[in-house]
Amino acid sequence: MGWVLLVALVGAAPAEAEQMVRIAVGRFRSAMSIAGPGLSVETGDGTRLHPHGPLVLAPTKRGILVGGKPVDTDLLRIRSTGDLTLRGHTYRRELEVSHRSFRGRAELLVVHPLPLETYVVGIVSSELPHKWPLEALKAQAVAARTYAVWQKYRRLELPYHMESTVLDQVYHGKQRESDLARTAAEQTRGIVMTHARRPVQAYFHAACGGRTESARAGWGNALPYLPGSPCRKCNAAPRYKWSADVSADDMTKAMGHVLGERVTDVVVVTRTKTGRVAKVKVAGPGKSRTITGGDLRRLVGYTKLWSTQIDSIQKTRAGFHFVGRGAGHGVGMCQWGARGFAEAGTPYDKILENYYPGAVLTRMY
Ligand SMILES: [Zn+2]
Repeated sequence: MGWVLLVALVGAAPAEAEQMVRIAVGRFRSAMSIAGPGLSVETGDGTRLHPHGPLVLAPTKRGILVGGKPVDTDLLRIRSTGDLTLRGHTYRRELEVSHRSFRGRAELLVVHPLPLETYVVGIVSSELPHKWPLEALKAQAVAARTYAVWQKYRRLELPYHMESTVLDQVYHGKQRESDLARTAAEQTRGIVMTHARRPVQAYFHAACGGRTESARAGWGNALPYLPGSPCRKCNAAPRYKWSADVSADDMTKAMGHVLGERVTDVVVVTRTKTGRVAKVKVAGPGKSRTITGGDLRRLVGYTKLWSTQIDSIQKTRAGFHFVGRGAGHGVGMCQWGARGFAEAGTPYDKILENYYPGAVLTRMY
């Protein structure tokens, strides 16, 4: 992979400066509490509050209750001299709580601002086992950093840049950080993948099952650096091959809104170039509907059908028997494949080159 040093990404701050990212770590419709040593609470206009005892916050239609008392603000900045805990997770020093209305109901949105490199350590720790080879963790660190920077500039107008769930990247807070993840972040500090001087959409997934999916087939938008890549390195993945039995009742229930009658048949109609199910026909006694492979997975369950790489669907006496390969959406870096490459001695830049061909490693700071 070629190197380009120091491009100021999409009008970013001075290239030396480390970036901050803002992670949505929780949404609350009822009371919740935040604890930590030396708590200080500031409202959006800078007024200091002095709550006594543990900090209990709750949303009302009009605003935020602090310790049961209404406060005239829709934003609180909570700082600690150490770590903050919220719902069993640990965060460094600062959380922001904002009041908002979501689908007509008041809620408190909790956002954790943190330096990008700290975030990368957290993501690598959450996404990959800490005993995996370092080069795989370094590839994951670059992918996670790149994804974060891409999301940040897409969502500059929102109160946060990232969810802390599989919707974006899984972030569990400070307590999960591993030493090897820290090393992986340090050894790739500031490095992101770019294409045409912009951060790439660095998707990744657990295991591709032999070949990654193109962005065009997977997401419906073609990206030059995500054409789908050979992998053949993820066969140690627990779900390299999988099977699932779905009863006729469960299938009927899953397809309730789609078909509205008992499901008697599920047939693959078309496949993508990599063999993933593109369209599938779901039929009953009276009618049939064609849905996407992604919808089939979503409706039956992501942890039942581990991927859309479904090699066969058989009708059984009880329902349907699925046999498939890989886990996850299949686009971008295959994590188990990265592990396989690293175990074979492949350095992280070559691993990334396999999954994001044409992307360039770029040092942001
Ligand atoms: Zn793979």
